[in-house]
Amino acid sequence: MRDFVYLILKRRHTVMIILRFVSFVMCLWGIVALGFVVLETIIAGNIFYLFRNRSSVETIAFSLVLTVSGLVLALSTQRLAQWIVPLPKKVCPKCGYRLIRLMRPRCPECGLDLPNEFVDDLAAE
Ligand SMILES: [Zn+2]
Repeated sequence: MRDFVYLILKRRHTVMIILRFVSFVMCLWGIVALGFVVLETIIAGNIFYLFRNRSSVETIAFSLVLTVSGLVLALSTQRLAQWIVPLPKKVCPKCGYRLIRLMRPRCPECGLDLPNEFVDDLAAE
């Protein structure tokens, strides 16, 4: 059973690496696009060039949305990975005891420390 948990944690790690790479590419793409608009404005020598040119405004909006989305994705990779690769709930991975209405993240049968997501929200109230 320990190998089973290890496999899940390994899959989560892989998912996190993929999500972080995607968020990095999104941020990089947004920043580079914004950099081109800034460079274009500097070459034009006029700040109002930005607002006269419709494609510049669209590029700024696109790059900001892309960068902010990338940052949000980067900050939520761990939760997303836990959601995409969930641990098996309701059963202890070590002894197979049914984990229902746990107050603390610990198996009552074998004492194995469990992740907080094993704690039943209703029981904790
Ligand atoms: Zn157990």
